Amino acid sequence: MKRAYKISTYKSMIKSEQQMLPFIIKFKHLKKIISLLIVFLFMVSCSTVPITGRKRINLVSDAQILPASFAQYKGFLEENKLSSDIAKTREVQEVGMKISRAVDRFMRANGMVSEANNYRWEFNLIEDKTVNAWCMPGGKVVFYTGILSIAANTDGIAGIMGHEVAHAFAKHGQERMSQGMLQQAGGLAVALGTMNKDPKTQQIWNQAFGIGSTLGMLKFSRTHETEADKLGMVFMIMAGYQPKEAVNVWIRMSQRAGSSQSPPEFLSTHPSNQSRIKVLNDYIPTAMAYAKKFNEQAAIQEKQ
Ligand SMILES: [Zn+2]
Repeated sequence: MKRAYKISTYKSMIKSEQQMLPFIIKFKHLKKIISLLIVFLFMVSCSTVPITGRKRINLVSDAQILPASFAQYKGFLEENKLSSDIAKTREVQEVGMKISRAVDRFMRANGMVSEANNYRWEFNLIEDKTVNAWCMPGGKVVFYTGILSIAANTDGIAGIMGHEVAHAFAKHGQERMSQGMLQQAGGLAVALGTMNKDPKTQQIWNQAFGIGSTLGMLKFSRTHETEADKLGMVFMIMAGYQPKEAVNVWIRMSQRAGSSQSPPEFLSTHPSNQSRIKVLNDYIPTAMAYAKKFNEQAAIQEKQ
């Protein structure tokens, strides 16, 4: 079993080796080397989020995170009650299927075939008054019955679904975990290949996600929220839904937050601000143009 060396271990190792070999790297050099390695890691694992063009870092591969994500999702479903409302369940699942098909089509048309093959899309509605919905890495979605009044209609469901699916598509959970890894020197050892083999991995996982928390219930940053809003809107339009309802969902969400003493659970994992509704509304023409262009090009390519 590989061990992640602590800095102090390095220090003592180097001290003893210095006595024997005068040319061995000194600790101050090691610091430099670690910094360079972090820069190197950053460069090799830096990629661009399709559509928004934002640069992101991801040190976590699908093979590393997806089994944990799928297991957590399964456990969640076992511990929670599925909705007995067949019509609503079907509606949520149909919206999910349509949007995930649009995402899948987009990935396959943009050189992301192996990535697309790793998703295991699944959509469930659980009986719970909490205003919430989330999507875990790999496409595992849960809607709570409590969010349906905010969704209000099928296009509203699509607005929320698009947003959640976009978090998984853009790998926001993995990015957050990567940031946690880079924030500490110990994470370097994990990043260098001891993933899944060292207790340190578990520690970083817990720090990044909160002990016992479900991956889908991460608190995302504003950057991730804005990106999920934009990507989600593009995907819902590709799937044939009305983007205006994504804006209306957030209007209803803010009204609910203002009218009740307990703000929707959704807002605790999806930080919001005043400008969000405007940004999303202003993005409608861009999203429509993007989705229209993609659907036309994809249709031509698929005919050939
Ligand atoms: Zn979000």
